[in-house]
Amino acid sequence: MEDECPICMTKFGEKNRFAVKLKCEHVFCYFCVKGAFNLNSKCPYCREEISAEIVKKPKFLKSKNKSSESDSSEGTTKWFYKGANGWWVYDEDTCELIENAFRNKQQSCHFTISGLNYVLDFKSLTQSRVDDSSRRRKVKRDVFTKSNDEIKGIGGILKRDLSVISGSPKRKKARLVVSTSTNANESKDEASQSEG
Ligand SMILES: [Zn+2]
Ligand SMILES: [Zn+2]
Repeated sequence: MEDECPICMTKFGEKNRFAVKLKCEHVFCYFCVKGAFNLNSKCPYCREEISAEIVKKPKFLKSKNKSSESDSSEGTTKWFYKGANGWWVYDEDTCELIENAFRNKQQSCHFTISGLNYVLDFKSLTQSRVDDSSRRRKVKRDVFTKSNDEIKGIGGILKRDLSVISGSPKRKKARLVVSTSTNANESKDEASQSEG
């Protein structure tokens, strides 16, 4: 697997750019897959159709690069947009862009996510699509904590997926079972217990 997304040139695992493999076996980061899907639903390399399923329920590849993002985000101030049943954090680059505009006391700011152009209005705290202003979402500036159930995830990636791909500490270590002829039964019991 390549180390970085060939479209945005961001290393997989950094800035929440997680690798997704398409049916044609081409690999891009999730945000770029979403962008290609929004554009024409075709793989940017071979033009094979991208299924909606891959965008809705992505299966991320584990990245070799260590992800720092999901942990370092804890307790920091982020920008959120409202989804159907909770809040989503903007991806890191967009968060930075909005925060800078906010600190510069701009009235609004423009950004592009997955190929779509948005404008955020700081006065009404709403984000709307530039091409379709009826597509409006509430936004807020808040502290990111994983334990907050109202926070669904980052940029459309669910929290539980984030911990899977960034190598969660829950991952079981292979257990070293020393087996000799005298305690073979004992170690077998131990091994079966750890399964449960
Ligand atoms: Zn990308
Ligand atoms: Zn392809």
